[in-house]
Amino acid sequence: MLTRLSAPWAGCTDMGSTSTAFSAVLQSGALPVQPAKEQPFKASRGKLVAVPGAVREQVLLKVAYYTALANALYRINVPVPTCSFDLRGRASGMAHYREHHIRFNPVLLNENTEAFLAQTPGHEVAHLVTLFLHAPGRKRRPFSLAPHGPQWQEVMRDFGLQPRATHNFVIDNATISTRLFAYRCSCPDRVFKFGPRKHANAKRAKYFCRQCLGQLRFDVQIK
Ligand SMILES: [Zn+2]
Ligand SMILES: [Zn+2]
Repeated sequence: MLTRLSAPWAGCTDMGSTSTAFSAVLQSGALPVQPAKEQPFKASRGKLVAVPGAVREQVLLKVAYYTALANALYRINVPVPTCSFDLRGRASGMAHYREHHIRFNPVLLNENTEAFLAQTPGHEVAHLVTLFLHAPGRKRRPFSLAPHGPQWQEVMRDFGLQPRATHNFVIDNATISTRLFAYRCSCPDRVFKFGPRKHANAKRAKYFCRQCLGQLRFDVQIK
């Protein structure tokens, strides 16, 4: 679980030192890119915050990517975990060992998309992989395996990620509701966030992407 860090750290997109095994796998280009499956986690109560489709897809791809990377690096056969976007509170993600499932926090994902993508999917996959490597067949984490202990840190470094237990994502008061609307153009992964005023304006005025020159179309309400 990622928890809030009081002192901010800057290098969230820093990939850290890349191991030679990691580079070898990358260069072989043999990793599958079938995204992980999205599946509700038990019964989620209450209204869920929507995540734009393109962003969800990127998270699911990262989960599949790191699972494939672990399987190649350690010659193991961990199935790609299922995922959901229904985690609330301050943690950005949570790995569930028994269900082999990862829950992501949609509010933090929407508000810190880039840093979230760089860190959280790999972080949570590393939890599942650590259990698989050091306590195979177990449905719970044994006490000998600290959540962010040396075994987990080693997997993180092999992933080319900084073994940090905490994040400094903006926790932009999910309770104070400023509605936010996602618009998309023809670019595969660009998302434009409009406030209520601009969203209302977009019914009359047209907005365009500078890159693809396509008109921005309303996709989904983020919050
Ligand atoms: Zn964690
Ligand atoms: Zn565009």
